[in-house]
Amino acid sequence: MKLPHKLITLLITILLVGCGSVPIANTKVPVANTKESSTFQKTVVSLTFDDGNADNYYVRPILKGTKLHATFYVVSGFTGKPNYLNRRQLRALYADGNEIGGHTLSHINLATVSGAELKREVCKDRLNLLARKFKVTSFAYPYGHYDDAARQAVIDCGYNSARAVSSGPESIPPADAYAIQAMPYIVKDTSFLKMTRYVSQVEENGGGWAIFVFHHVCDGCDQYSVPLETFLQFAQWLSEQQKNGLVIKTVGEVIGGEVKPGVKP
Ligand SMILES: [Zn+2]
Repeated sequence: MKLPHKLITLLITILLVGCGSVPIANTKVPVANTKESSTFQKTVVSLTFDDGNADNYYVRPILKGTKLHATFYVVSGFTGKPNYLNRRQLRALYADGNEIGGHTLSHINLATVSGAELKREVCKDRLNLLARKFKVTSFAYPYGHYDDAARQAVIDCGYNSARAVSSGPESIPPADAYAIQAMPYIVKDTSFLKMTRYVSQVEENGGGWAIFVFHHVCDGCDQYSVPLETFLQFAQWLSEQQKNGLVIKTVGEVIGGEVKPGVKP
């Protein structure tokens, strides 16, 4: 996988300045068109990445530099395969304080399976991640699809939450922790300003939990992708808004609860 030269320069800049008190990266970051005095008193943001795509690793220095933590929903059966994060990378993300969640063994639509297969996809996936020493409490339904049996399987396999479709914002605590509503998927032409507007609108509409769903990190390689530079701008903006009261947490931090033992399917 090759990184465009521009992005390599960007990453080096972040790495160089990320730990100091200097503002992160001296790239031209457009100022969000939000009101001067905008404060966030009722809004929590979570950054989530689905599928464990290898290109997700590019956001690691950005998260470190902005001191933000994200939730990575990993398909454990794909770990280490071409184009997917490997174990070392997952460990590094986790060691930074990011959360690792489950996303089934093989990214199957859970509404299309039942019985032993359903249980295996959810429970075995969680067992795999627990065996890698991750405290796994959060799950995301592949494609956002589920039915009653799938929801029950997620509960039975020991998860504390499951993220579903995109009709957020969600409330805190959610009405149903096993059907958490995320914001509309981030697609390749979702702009930085649009992302900031999602957050501002949640606050203006009374507050809530704005869960962002990212898939690939690249410049248009996939419909469900975010350019690294756009993610950097958004992460910097989120980080800055913390002084205005904005809270950024992983899904597991918002939901809370103990880490339940793994369940054999
Ligand atoms: Zn997925």
